[in-house]
Amino acid sequence: MTDRLYYHDSLLREFDARVMACEASGERFHVLLDRTAFYPTSGGQPNDTGRLGEAAVVDVAEQADGAIVHMTDRALEPGAAHGVIDWERRFDHMQQHTGQHLLSAAFIDLFKMQTVSFHLGGESSTIDLAAAALSAKQAEAAERLTNQVIFEDRPVEVRFGTREELAASGVRKEVEREGVLRAVSVEGFDLQPCGGTHVARTGEVGLVLLRKIEKQKQNWRVEFVCGGRALRAAREDYATLGEAAKLLSCGQPEVPAMLGKTIEERKQMHRSRQIVLEQLAAYEAGELLRDATRAAPVSPIRITRVFTEADAGYLRFLATRLAAERNVQAFLATRAGGYIIFAQSPGLPADMNALLREALSAAGGKGGGTRDFAQGSLPDAARLEEVLATAAARL
Ligand SMILES: [Zn+2]
Repeated sequence: MTDRLYYHDSLLREFDARVMACEASGERFHVLLDRTAFYPTSGGQPNDTGRLGEAAVVDVAEQADGAIVHMTDRALEPGAAHGVIDWERRFDHMQQHTGQHLLSAAFIDLFKMQTVSFHLGGESSTIDLAAAALSAKQAEAAERLTNQVIFEDRPVEVRFGTREELAASGVRKEVEREGVLRAVSVEGFDLQPCGGTHVARTGEVGLVLLRKIEKQKQNWRVEFVCGGRALRAAREDYATLGEAAKLLSCGQPEVPAMLGKTIEERKQMHRSRQIVLEQLAAYEAGELLRDATRAAPVSPIRITRVFTEADAGYLRFLATRLAAERNVQAFLATRAGGYIIFAQSPGLPADMNALLREALSAAGGKGGGTRDFAQGSLPDAARLEEVLATAAARL
């Protein structure tokens, strides 16, 4: 069992210990110490990193027998070693973890919602609340209360006691474990069992900022950031909003209204563009039919054409238009996106779907459809002519 120095002193950044064992494991080494200030991944809080002598500690894990394994990039000799915790990372974890305790306590205080799990992620953290419903208003109230307790700068302390002793002190969560337990208290606000590292006073959390609430299967998930992360998030949000305002040439408060207006305009433009494209397709279909009939008055009329810039939507309008005529087989493609459509008038004997699939599979594309209308695409637009020729040869 490794002596966990962080249990008693979360602010310990450097320590001296003895290397008890060091074993190679793949590219890494597993190092056991008699005592450590390195926090192993557990209880929702990620591991510390840092240095042990000359070695970099890249991961720290807890074994079932209570030993803490330090994964290093190089071997350590048995004997004395000096450990240094990456403090920026650890302090960030402490801000998030203490913030989580406060937020969880606020949800209990205000709405009797228990936290069933906690996850401290690389970007943001989450708690899952056992609650049938959670409104944005409730989340805001919990955020407000949490920040109030942060601003009051209350002492955060570690306590040890048996299950009974903790229960008598009003611990938030019942624990199953026997023996001496560790709990973290926030003066006059919260006491919960926890093995994690915490700041010494709530003021060090700085600020808690809720990001998102979403329904999970049984619970409600609340995403939040604390301290330095809250500052970064607010700074980034402001930059994003500023960029949007600049693009829309309006003030920041007008962004939502301007966006709504722009989206509505875009929808209208899309509608009128569709109408124009359909009209253009009808006109071009007439031209193509006239040219084809003039060139070779055979039945069915075959139209083969590769466009340079037409988009898939236009190609569909055109194919639909041509197939609406009698006795027409159309083999259309566009270099823009390598899009292909085979279509024919109802009642003609060819199987456009089979033709398209065959021609495309030979050229490495994919697609499908019905007997009279099939569409697909080809990653290599340079092979469109070849695909159309293959299909024509099959007829
Ligand atoms: Zn905790």
